[in-house]
Amino acid sequence: MKILIADAFDASLPERLKKFGEVTQDASQLSDAEVVLVRSKTKCTAEYIDKAPKLKLIIRGGVGTDNIDKEAAKKKGIQVKNTPAASSVAVAELAFAMMLAIPNRLIEAHNTTKEGKFLKSELKRTELMGKTLGLIGVGRIGTEMARRAKAFGMKVVGFDPAVQKSDVVDLKPLDEVLARADYLSIHTPLTDETKGMINKNLFSKMKDGVAIVNTGRGKCVVEADLVEALKSGKVKAYATDVWTSDPPPADCPLLTAPNVIMAPHIGASTKENLLRIGDEVVQILEAFSK
Ligand code: NAD
Repeated sequence: MKILIADAFDASLPERLKKFGEVTQDASQLSDAEVVLVRSKTKCTAEYIDKAPKLKLIIRGGVGTDNIDKEAAKKKGIQVKNTPAASSVAVAELAFAMMLAIPNRLIEAHNTTKEGKFLKSELKRTELMGKTLGLIGVGRIGTEMARRAKAFGMKVVGFDPAVQKSDVVDLKPLDEVLARADYLSIHTPLTDETKGMINKNLFSKMKDGVAIVNTGRGKCVVEADLVEALKSGKVKAYATDVWTSDPPPADCPLLTAPNVIMAPHIGASTKENLLRIGDEVVQILEAFSK
């Protein structure tokens, strides 16, 4: 069995997978591959799948499978698996770091201090304690985010149509979450329903000066509406790890909008997470080889 590792995984993975067959990282060998391992960089479109006539299994190291044309794979009898549990802590820690950076004004503090300014009295901070975090999506990552927020003394409310019970999140209808949240954190997958979900209509239901963290998917947000909300101050800050494309186009309006904190889609890129993804990949291949 030929296994193509198409994207960046932990450096130990090729060696760990040798017991299952021939392992290559040479993308030109796609036509011979029975298994392809991708993260988010490689787009497994119908055209990509057509170039792999021997393909039986696509493994997405990570959670979101929106970079894989699952219909095209299904038509050819190709299985699609992901490693859903591995990334929760890594993404939640980044989302929490981004949320902490907002009231602590860390980016401004760093940049202005480096520029030789010492804005001690100008850089007024606020605290997370006592504030309300609203979660949109209360799955694995949303729940990890909630645990961290509780440890900081925040109240946590959340909306998720598929979740009826949570030990850490006070589940509420979406409009109530929007009305109560000082901070909103997006943890939904990209689906037909969530695409463009965070738009002008939703902003109008949020508190003035709300701060939003997005480690879910960039396309869940209507960028033009968000930029307008940032310019008017309706949204005080937007911290994002996710974009409409990786990387965003040079004319992406968020790159120049005020009060945006940016990361280059590194939520699932901790060393520990890459090792956990490797463990889940091995388990998938063990089951596949039986
Ligand atoms: P999960 O499946 O455990 O949770 C997602 C939750 O979103 C589910 O409970 C689902 O019911 C809910 N949901 C779906 N539609 C919704 C809607 N319209 N409104 C509210 N909730 C809705 O997945 P997870 O492991 O928590 O991951 C969540 C998402 O995070 C992934 O799908 C992916 O898009 C994103 N992610 C990003 C990174 C990154 O690097 N930034 C890494 C991993 C995952």
